[in-house]
Amino acid sequence: MNKLDSELVESKLQQRGYEPAASEDDAGVVLVNTCSVRQHAEDRVWSKLGKLRIRKRREPGLVVGVLGCMAQEHKRYMLARMPHVDLVVGPSAFGDIDDTIEQARSRNAALVREREPARTKHDVGGAGVVVVDHGVSGDAIKRNVRVRPHRSQAYVSIMRGCNMPCTYCIVPSTRGDEISRPIADLVEEAQRLVDDGVTEITLLGQTVNAYGRDLKGQNATLARLLRELHEIPALRRLAFITSHPNFLNAELIDAIAELPRVARYLHLPAQSGSNAVLKTMRRGYTVERYKKRVDQLLAKAPDVELHSDWIVGYPGETVADFEQTVEFVKDIGFAQSYVFKYSPRPGTVAEELVDDVPTAEKERRNQVLLAVQEELTAARNRALVGQTVEVLVEGPSKVAGRLSGRTVHHRLVHFPTPEGANVADLTGEYVSVRVTEALAHSVVGEVAPEASFEVGVVES
Ligand code: SF4
Repeated sequence: MNKLDSELVESKLQQRGYEPAASEDDAGVVLVNTCSVRQHAEDRVWSKLGKLRIRKRREPGLVVGVLGCMAQEHKRYMLARMPHVDLVVGPSAFGDIDDTIEQARSRNAALVREREPARTKHDVGGAGVVVVDHGVSGDAIKRNVRVRPHRSQAYVSIMRGCNMPCTYCIVPSTRGDEISRPIADLVEEAQRLVDDGVTEITLLGQTVNAYGRDLKGQNATLARLLRELHEIPALRRLAFITSHPNFLNAELIDAIAELPRVARYLHLPAQSGSNAVLKTMRRGYTVERYKKRVDQLLAKAPDVELHSDWIVGYPGETVADFEQTVEFVKDIGFAQSYVFKYSPRPGTVAEELVDDVPTAEKERRNQVLLAVQEELTAARNRALVGQTVEVLVEGPSKVAGRLSGRTVHHRLVHFPTPEGANVADLTGEYVSVRVTEALAHSVVGEVAPEASFEVGVVES
């Protein structure tokens, strides 16, 4: 979501006449788009802001902005303690970011005219801070579809915010209530992206399968949206993240089963395999209910693979609770897992709970779960050896002379760049790859002999 928000902000600024700088040091406006979900992400932002404070002393006209969830969460601190920050813009106020920047620029210019740039350690030449935390969301931006990092891939935000009560999560307070975009707007945006060469769209929402709950009387559901987007002939892959287990209903299962171009993986975070922990987290389902939904899905769409997030060391999580999570991961046979060690987030309900699992034990649980998942992933990767898979090429691999891409199951595939092939031309294309080797997190293969390299033409 943050990546897409950054693209939307860039889109808006380009419409206003701004251009991307060659490097951060060349930029007259530096915007840091932030995430509050984990402490580590926040720490990196504080460190970056420290460096920008030093630069701002030298360049008082520089505009420094903090965008996103940290802006929303820490706006008072930034107002009081960080005078070198000119903009503090919450995630619901990106729609008029260009006007906000213009305000900050004229304020800076006035300050620079009125006095000498600051030279002392304590006077950073503070320009004042423009706080905008209620405004027009980034979805109001008429998107420039050309502003995207990949030729063939794009994100589309279909809803913002979250109405769920998960005790550990800061999202509902930073991003607000669910707001869904009308189906017609989404189809129009997808069509413009496809017309510009996009063949894979990933629909985004904090609880993407709760889409449409707020669009009363419009019969707007994720299943219906998938069916409408599936009508766009040149759209070859259609994915959506992140789903909540409570909204995986029969209508959505039927859509996934019946629409062949919908991605064959489902990111469905379970968070824990212990009912006691799920209850403390207020996730709203039990292990049994999660499993029942997954069974219903796999009965109709057996080729779909499950991905999940897990939090280990949640307050009150016993060794027995954790063992239940391990068993659950094995039982479902997840294809991929993201494992997080619990850290309290200020402003959440869980912050009030006693963080009673020692750090070393959190680390142990993290390692155990990662090892279990690694074996499950490796087994799936081994089963692919000898098979030919369709790969959407994403670009050069870290290993020289290789390309990387993803299958329809989101499996990472590396393969040698075919002799004489142009990497730039192949990036964004679909190739058939015969898998020859399974690694822990990816597979290696070679371009299948029957593969054709029909390279699409994209207008420049
Ligand atoms: S559903 Fe997801 S975004 Fe919403 S509160 Fe729970 S964890 Fe946070």
